[in-house]
Amino acid sequence: MSMIKVCKFGGTSMADGNVITAAAKIVESDPARRYVVVSAPGKRFSADIKVTDLLYKCAAAAETNDMETFEEVFAKISVRFLNIEQEVGKNLGMNDALAEVKAQILSGAGTDYCVSRGEYFAAKIMAAILNVPFVDATEFVRFDESGALDHVTFDLANEVLSKYPRAVIPGFYGLNVDGKVKTFSRGGGDISGAIVARGVMASLYENWTDVSGFYACDPRIVDNPQCIPELSYQELRELSYMGANVLHSEAIFPVRNAGIPIRICNTFRPTDAGTYIVKTSTRDIRDNVVTGIAGKKDFTVICLEKSMMNSEVGFVGKVLSVIGHRGISFEHLPSGIDTMSLVIDNAYLKNGVLEEVVDEIRELVHPDKITLHENIALVATVGHGMTKNVGTSARLFKAISEAGINVCMIDQGSSELNIIVGVENQDCGACISAIYKEFFN
Ligand code: ASP
Repeated sequence: MSMIKVCKFGGTSMADGNVITAAAKIVESDPARRYVVVSAPGKRFSADIKVTDLLYKCAAAAETNDMETFEEVFAKISVRFLNIEQEVGKNLGMNDALAEVKAQILSGAGTDYCVSRGEYFAAKIMAAILNVPFVDATEFVRFDESGALDHVTFDLANEVLSKYPRAVIPGFYGLNVDGKVKTFSRGGGDISGAIVARGVMASLYENWTDVSGFYACDPRIVDNPQCIPELSYQELRELSYMGANVLHSEAIFPVRNAGIPIRICNTFRPTDAGTYIVKTSTRDIRDNVVTGIAGKKDFTVICLEKSMMNSEVGFVGKVLSVIGHRGISFEHLPSGIDTMSLVIDNAYLKNGVLEEVVDEIRELVHPDKITLHENIALVATVGHGMTKNVGTSARLFKAISEAGINVCMIDQGSSELNIIVGVENQDCGACISAIYKEFFN
């Protein structure tokens, strides 16, 4: 079978008519690029507003009957699409299409429908430029009762897309069990691209964005960090979950099981090699102790100490029940013989919930001591190479301590793929840059 590549273009690659035309040229330059998934037009310059953000505003205004805001914001969205229509030199009937969507929103089509229209129009535009059929994501992307992706999606995608040798598909949405449009979480166009790649059993899933790959750490923290040529799905999952947001952290699942590699590429520098995300990295782990470093702020660490905790049957279970019955999930659970810590996202603990949780833990398991560390950042150092290289953690902690940063929590993942440290929010950047210097300079 001939090679199939699925290309997903993110918001910055769809921001205006000129960039969309450049993206279309990329597709046309390789006949294997048969399926294209697009995001809504993103920012053209840093102070610009993404079309999806404008659509969320519209949806909120429609909901509260704030017609003045609705009209004002919808007008901005219309201008963006009408400009694009003009820039790409196609007559797409955009005026009528916008009027139709406006009527739908005002007759109560709902937030998800409203915000999905950015990708809908973007896909219509790309399909017209490429002269390739538009296939709506609602034809195969399905969510189940709980709102999670329904696994019938993959077979359906295969069934629907096998009818088209080439197609353009809007990202970010599908259908829920009631037959209504439902979106993924923000940035979910990456998941749509992965679904299409899996559906057509692509040889490669290309994710076109505005950076030349995955950097070893955030370029806003370290100047010109190294671009990682290749990383494993697992490494990517760890890094993107921890805040390296080149790719949506859930976009890996559809392609990982099928072993479809992902390539991150730059629409604005299409000849750059980019980053390949593969099952098992072929890089020599002796040269690459650490693959990347990422950090995420705003966690709370609840540390419990109790003598003989190790022999108290059910201790951890009871502690977890306190958060479990409140619907709070935890990020990490590092433990020692007489200590355990719960690392929880601050978002769960607002408005007095933290105090309630602590009181209930105190009543239920009578710890000797409870210490709270609020506003903690987690910094993950990730890499398969860490398993095989003696002294990695010593180097890591030495680098952090030499930077004068206090570590309040340490967790080494059981797969030895990562070492996570908790530091004060304000030390997050300095911690990442100290680790980067140690392992990359
Ligand atoms: N347009 C959506 C967002 O801004 C989805 C995406 O771009 O992937 O979140």
